Amino acid sequence: LSVTYIPHIQQQNMIQGFFALTSDISDRKAIERMKDEFISVVSHELRTPLTSIHSSLKILATGKLGSLSSQGERMLKIADEQTERLVHLVNNVLDLQRIQSGKITMNKQACKARDLMVETVQAMKTFAQEQGIRLSFKPNEFVVWADRDYIIQTLTNLVSNAIKFSPSNSTVILSAAIDSQNNSDSKHQSISYITFAVQDRGQGIPQDRLETIFERFQQVDSSDSRKKGGTGLGLAICRQIVEGHGGQIWAESCFEQGSTFYFTLPEHKASNQQSINFS
Ligand code: ADP
Repeated sequence: LSVTYIPHIQQQNMIQGFFALTSDISDRKAIERMKDEFISVVSHELRTPLTSIHSSLKILATGKLGSLSSQGERMLKIADEQTERLVHLVNNVLDLQRIQSGKITMNKQACKARDLMVETVQAMKTFAQEQGIRLSFKPNEFVVWADRDYIIQTLTNLVSNAIKFSPSNSTVILSAAIDSQNNSDSKHQSISYITFAVQDRGQGIPQDRLETIFERFQQVDSSDSRKKGGTGLGLAICRQIVEGHGGQIWAESCFEQGSTFYFTLPEHKASNQQSINFS
């Protein structure tokens, strides 16, 4: 049961009492679960045929089976791009589902924030160059307690978005700092958090969308998936990963001036991590 309390206000803004509105949410939850299962089964079934279509197209593109007319080549290119988009979508859905269901174990260890950023910048260098974007990061000495691969996936998603939504000739900056707000966590008094930030000078995000973009299939502009090749799942995956580390993720933005995405991870202090389990 979900209970919502609505204040009953009379003259002079005095609260006279409360109405309690109860609703049965078990049906809604069951429908959500069925929807999740359906999406995951369909995605799983799509993966094998898609992979085989993708490899066949790649072989055709080599020209070893005979050359194509220029129109044929153009069509092959479109088919290849669209198949790649579908493969990406299906993989994202499956990734998200796996993380959400807790089926994966995060392999947490002490990681240097600097190394996580260097790897991300290396992975995104070519894409950034193609789009005319400079990538830079501020060196730091922080060490976090994290699953290296999943955090690099998170940073890569954020940097990829920053590149996609920025004008060419601008810079995307990665940084890390000690989190001053989150360090008095009542449950884990002794834990400090490190805040990672990915800052761009792009188109920005409207204030009323800053939270919903972390939900599945949410895009500020629905034509983005066509124009920018996105799926609307990247940030939902990032959120699951960060929360799986006991951290938080959020965004701040100024319209047409840029956005900054932040997430926190527990700092690794040599003496305390062995006794703390976030998962
Ligand atoms: P997508 O695959 O569409 O990028 P995401 O979940 O990663 O999916 O992002 C959801 C939406 O949030 C994007 O479609 C875009 O509208 C908005 N968004 C994300 N990052 C940025 C950014 N750096 N600048 C502007 N908009 C962004």
